[in-house]
Amino acid sequence: MNAYAQQHQVEIDISRDELHPDNLPDLRQYDGLIIQQTAKIGGDAAFYHTLVQQGMRQITTRTAGYDMIEVALAQAAGLKVTNVPAYSPRSVAEMALMQIFRLLRRTWAFDARVAQHDFRWVGLQAREIHTVTVGIIGAGRIGSTLARLLHALGARVLAYDIQPQPEYDTFLTYVDKETLLSESDVVSLHVDLNPSSVGLLSAADFKRMPTHAGLVNASRGPVVNTADLIAALVTGEIEAAALDTVEGESAVFNRDLRQQGVVDQQIQQLLDLPNVIVTPHVAFYTNLAVQNMVEIALDDVLLILNGQSAQHEI
Ligand code: NAD
Repeated sequence: MNAYAQQHQVEIDISRDELHPDNLPDLRQYDGLIIQQTAKIGGDAAFYHTLVQQGMRQITTRTAGYDMIEVALAQAAGLKVTNVPAYSPRSVAEMALMQIFRLLRRTWAFDARVAQHDFRWVGLQAREIHTVTVGIIGAGRIGSTLARLLHALGARVLAYDIQPQPEYDTFLTYVDKETLLSESDVVSLHVDLNPSSVGLLSAADFKRMPTHAGLVNASRGPVVNTADLIAALVTGEIEAAALDTVEGESAVFNRDLRQQGVVDQQIQQLLDLPNVIVTPHVAFYTNLAVQNMVEIALDDVLLILNGQSAQHEI
């Protein structure tokens, strides 16, 4: 960030506070605004008008998702809204790949045994990646990157997507959702959050999956019906899950709750389950991704402030 500031002769201040209508700092000394939060800003039209009155011409999120901003209200107030749609598909794809390996290797079960000084192997034979089928739901930027990695490792790769890309046929096979669920040893979710993807996996879908199957979700929490997932994990309809995103995560992830604990009951239930691996929305958090996020967001702000159109305007 310092190098960028020097190179472009700009000053960059960082605040760790979230931006909300009841927590609006005095922005009059600034020309541009970049946020990173996943928690909804919310607010009514008046809030976005206040930003404009304070001299803002844009609001930029360093993330791919922009559901935290009321885009229509912001735009109606005269703000341009930009995001960073692709900072490094490899960052999330590599995390998903690691989680697929962890599920195939049953590390969650070995970790639990070892923590209790139980060093037996019995019942926990692993499966090698080139002998399994991995189902990718949402083969967009991240999903297709993961598919390429899995294909290179010799896995059979199935994909379900509402917009299939014929050129991906060399490294994945498109099937319908039902086939993908019943034939995959691990299902990895990579859809964007939209009305068609909310609750995309629920009770009936988990019943279709083999009982030894695992689920990876590094997309968005609401893509999975959490209560149904918990039930499927408790009853053994599926074996395990690795979750980088969960419903209600903004009150928990990237916060130090060692004193308060977790209030959200569903998240606490997931944390209590031995067959769930939770990571706090960190799939994106790599050297290259962070550098790209910062630079792409700042480039767009400077373009807008210079009266030009930004590349990633929503
Ligand atoms: P993308 O838009 O490139 O790809 C999404 C794909 O999902 C598209 O091909 C689309 O056609 C498909 N899709 C959408 N709705 C669908 C549905 N109902 N059924 C089947 N397919 C559907 O998105 P991307 O950049 O690859 O990001 C994928 C996901 O990863 C997003 O949810 C994003 O928020 C999330 N993400 C997570 C992290 C993290 O740190 N965990 C970081 C970045 C992105």
